[in-house]
Amino acid sequence: MRGETIRKTTPPRVAPNLRDYAEECAGFSWSRAREALRGLPGSRGLNIAYEAVDRHAASARAAAVALRCVGRDDSVTCVTYGDLAASTARFANVLGRLGVGRGERVVTLLGRCPELYTVVLGTLKNTSVLCPLFSAFGPDPVAQRLRLSDARVLVTTAELYRRKVAGQRDGLPGLRHVLIVGGGADAAPAGTLSFDALMADADDTFTIAPTAPDDMALLHFTSGTTGTPKGAVHVHEAAVAHYVTAWYALDLHPDDVYWCTADPGWVTGMSYGIVAPLMHGLTVVVDEGDYDARRWYRILAEQRVSVWYTAPTALRMLMRTTPRTGPYDLPRSFDLGALRFIASVGEPLNPEAVLWGRDVLGLPVHDNWWQTETGSIMIANLAACDIRPGSMGRPLPGVAAAVLRRGEDGRAEVTDGHVTVVEEPGVEGELALRPGWPSMFRGYLHDERRTAAAFADGWYLTGDLVRRDADGWYWFVGRADDVIKSAGHLIGPFEVESALMEHPAVAEAGVIGRPDPVAGNIVKAFVALRPGFDPTAAMRQDLLAFSRRRLGPAVAPREIAFDQHLPHTRSGKVMRRLLRARELGLPEGDISTLEDSAHGACASPRGAPQRTERSA
Ligand code: AMP
Repeated sequence: MRGETIRKTTPPRVAPNLRDYAEECAGFSWSRAREALRGLPGSRGLNIAYEAVDRHAASARAAAVALRCVGRDDSVTCVTYGDLAASTARFANVLGRLGVGRGERVVTLLGRCPELYTVVLGTLKNTSVLCPLFSAFGPDPVAQRLRLSDARVLVTTAELYRRKVAGQRDGLPGLRHVLIVGGGADAAPAGTLSFDALMADADDTFTIAPTAPDDMALLHFTSGTTGTPKGAVHVHEAAVAHYVTAWYALDLHPDDVYWCTADPGWVTGMSYGIVAPLMHGLTVVVDEGDYDARRWYRILAEQRVSVWYTAPTALRMLMRTTPRTGPYDLPRSFDLGALRFIASVGEPLNPEAVLWGRDVLGLPVHDNWWQTETGSIMIANLAACDIRPGSMGRPLPGVAAAVLRRGEDGRAEVTDGHVTVVEEPGVEGELALRPGWPSMFRGYLHDERRTAAAFADGWYLTGDLVRRDADGWYWFVGRADDVIKSAGHLIGPFEVESALMEHPAVAEAGVIGRPDPVAGNIVKAFVALRPGFDPTAAMRQDLLAFSRRRLGPAVAPREIAFDQHLPHTRSGKVMRRLLRARELGLPEGDISTLEDSAHGACASPRGAPQRTERSA
């Protein structure tokens, strides 16, 4: 399990927030952590937007730069905490004028533009709920999430609206307002409103209404193995964990310039791209552009980024342009001297990437682990501690983690309501967390059944398989279910299979993740065709294009194989596990539930693929 340990022999340039892991864990309490937050004036509760913006705007930091937005054209726009307080107040007033109130959902389908920050924090000020969507989703995932979230307001651009929403608007009667960002007052297509015009008319002062810590604040969609996407509900109290975990695991200091490369459509882009760094009152770099190695090094250098939170896929892409074996011409042509801490999240971080950081950028990469449901970082490699490359690190203070013994279905074994905690080191099991940290999701929206299935015997079950070594470091092994991590995005195979089955030629589909050296996994679909359709190259192209149109490039399969003999269980479920084992040449494992092959040839009726997830 262990390779080369990176020892922190020379003290870092800036003294880390957490200096002694054991001492900090022993002395930690969430109620004390809560004291770092201000709370709404007049003891009126706790509101994320107040902590992230207004309290700085009311202090000497009002003129400090909150956002430094780098446009696609490399222009730089600075937004101070004072500016952000005014624009978010305006947006809260816009929502009020539109009749959007407490708890109602405001959905964003936007790239990393300055308006996004206004909308997110203005929504929270209005005590409405912000639900971000990934702008690379296609029309199907967008419409489904708009429906599932009970969206009242959508904020997007004219182009995204035309491409992804307009055609489905009739099926979204609950969506009362669509606000179009950019292009001025005349750019809003029929049936939408101009964000700019509404903002120009709105007052720039706003008093946040009393907000209970348990009031819903954020809704993040995540994918399961089966069924619709799950809307994980987060509350304002999550701010306590955002603040503390960013202090520990990202080692944020008030004078840092911080860059999180995650898309704001996903939980990392929200919790650590917006909320946590602004709560710390520092300067956040926002890049509107897409990945490009030279551009990224230039941003690190020109913006004097000191703390950088990125992802394994991005690091692997950088490693392609500059291998660890050198030459290091590209990164060395930039002054990266301001950089002092690098962290990564979202997928397994290869030991090679940790060492690449050390050798090429002069700083090792600190992997950390969390997921949509946990709302904040749970396990991390820390600035003051040695790094074990390949390990996710150790649980943060206040986080109680355990490895649970696995049952036959791969998940934690639950017998008569009880689980078994594995104490011996090195044993593979499901990672579980003891509820009690403030950013734990409060349930999946409208889905008590799947919420209940995520807990057993007083533990939250993460769905991840891990090992813990004798010193308490956690090592990621894989998912216990069929969800796919591709380029850091969690993709539900069911969503992809369902879209493919909308194609008239498709009888059935099974979707898996196929390992890829850069993206971690790519989505691969195995498709059985209906009688009368031929498995030709043209058909493959047609299916690829069809799914891309519906699902968008981030979710659609990158590869399609035809297979008229998809393996099924006796109850008719496609056995993705077996498809994956066969694809990778792995042992097939337990196939006692495999359907008799005589019935196997595409016997299951056309319709949605059957469930395979235990919790569903
Ligand atoms: P999401 O909810 O989309 O953020 O995805 C969470 C999932 O990403 C986790 O359950 C893991 O499967 C995976 N993940 C996140 N961080 C790590 C990490 N550091 N190492 C390995 N897998 C990770």
